[in-house]
Parts: sequence; structure tokens; C-alpha cells
Amino acid sequence: MKKAFIILSFAGLLLGTAACDNAQKTETKDAAKPKGKYYCTMHPEVTADKPGTCSKCGMDLVERDEAKK
Ligand SMILES: [Zn+2]
Repeated sequence: MKKAFIILSFAGLLLGTAACDNAQKTETKDAAKPKGKYYCTMHPEVTADKPGTCSKCGMDLVERDEAKK
């Protein structure tokens, strides 16, 4: 009986973690919603409509790959 309780608790924990993961993923997706076509690979929040460099690290912005979704 004790074993079953432990397994149930563990399953509940896993489910809770999965639900949390999903919520986090959705949130991240919304936050990183593309504003421009180009973005910094190190700073996805830095985007631009045309090629340029990241305002935070100076890296070249890369074109968003729509096919990779
Ligand atoms: Zn950057």
C-alpha cells in the first residue's frame, strides 16, 4: 500500500511538472513573438525588419527561418 502511494505521488509530481513546462513554453513563445524578420541568436528579443547587428552584443542578426518551425 505504501508503495502505491509513493508511485501515485510521483506520478502527480510528474504531471505537475509537465503542466508547468507547458505553461512556461507557451509564455516563452508569446514573449519571443517575432517582431522583425531578423533576430540575434543570443538575444531572441532583439529583432529587426532588415539585416543589422544586435544592439546588445553587436552580433549580426540572422534571418528567421520560417521553414524550421
Ligand atoms: Zn545579441
